[in-house]
Amino acid sequence: MYDCDICGRSSEIAYVVEIEGAMMTLCERCAKGKTPTQVLGEERPRKGTGRKELADQEEPEVVSDYGHRIRSARDAIGMSTKVLAEKINEKESTLIRVENQRMLPDETLRKKLERELGIKLMEHVPRGKASAAGGGNTPTTLWDAAIRKEKKK
Ligand SMILES: [Zn+2]
Repeated sequence: MYDCDICGRSSEIAYVVEIEGAMMTLCERCAKGKTPTQVLGEERPRKGTGRKELADQEEPEVVSDYGHRIRSARDAIGMSTKVLAEKINEKESTLIRVENQRMLPDETLRKKLERELGIKLMEHVPRGKASAAGGGNTPTTLWDAAIRKEKKK
């Protein structure tokens, strides 16, 4: 609690205002119309809302190279598709299809793979950009690639 230097009223929040060179601690009513150099007692300046807004704009997506990530992680520990499939209680054919990116793993399968291989298959993609990045409908010809390479210089 702070006591107002002008009216003596106690309040939860006090405003430090400079008046004629003197720093005074004032209640809200007395500080009205003045520019406080400091606000005392204000504990929650509303943090976290910005964070939530950010989260709302992002949607987790399965990474575009999920098959590659699974295979290289599996290769790194020298595990065959058969053994891995058994470990996570899935069909080997399912696992192979996922590795070849012919099938998107559902949530259960994805979590099992992430846990078993210690990899991450999800990433936050800002909304709007997600479809552009994952579309892959635009065929890339060698000519396109050459032009792109040329432009990079
Ligand atoms: Zn006051």
